[in-house]
Amino acid sequence: MGNCKQCGGMTRRLSMGQFETDRMGIPLVLVESVDQETCDSCGARAHIIPDMAGLVAAVAMSLVLAPYKLNGREIRFLRKAAGWSSKELADRLDVAAESITRWEKGQAVGDSMERVLRMKLGGELHPRAPAIDYDPEDVLNMKIQPMRPANLEPRRFRRVLVKIPKQPMEPLWTEPTLVAA
Ligand SMILES: [Zn+2]
Repeated sequence: MGNCKQCGGMTRRLSMGQFETDRMGIPLVLVESVDQETCDSCGARAHIIPDMAGLVAAVAMSLVLAPYKLNGREIRFLRKAAGWSSKELADRLDVAAESITRWEKGQAVGDSMERVLRMKLGGELHPRAPAIDYDPEDVLNMKIQPMRPANLEPRRFRRVLVKIPKQPMEPLWTEPTLVAA
């Protein structure tokens, strides 16, 4: 229960079974992770993701651990999830910032570089998604399969329990939580 931002009327909040979105830059199906708030008076609807930062980190960790070659959008998503600029990621990998731009535009990353990329991101993101099992050795020894076909179903994510981090975190995604119904 709450108050409508449009008309001030009473709203009802319901958990949505499935919510398809590419607001995070990669296509995702969020399962039981999104609430829909509906106003009884004017019918306005809002979609709310209760723990956006935790969800982003969990999605990012599952990408880090999935043994399919990362595409450009996924690399960009991971970099943003970590909160790094292209330059910051480039410095961590000891490559030129232009390389990051090229990878994010679709140029393939070599397998050994990709493993280093995944390990840097895993180290940064795992503390924010502690419900996901992560062993850096798994990435170190990963046999990376060819890219996940684009026509495959979008990845599906379900809300997981995420521990509250000790340090308050900046929101990772600045998009409004209100989307058109
Ligand atoms: Zn209303």
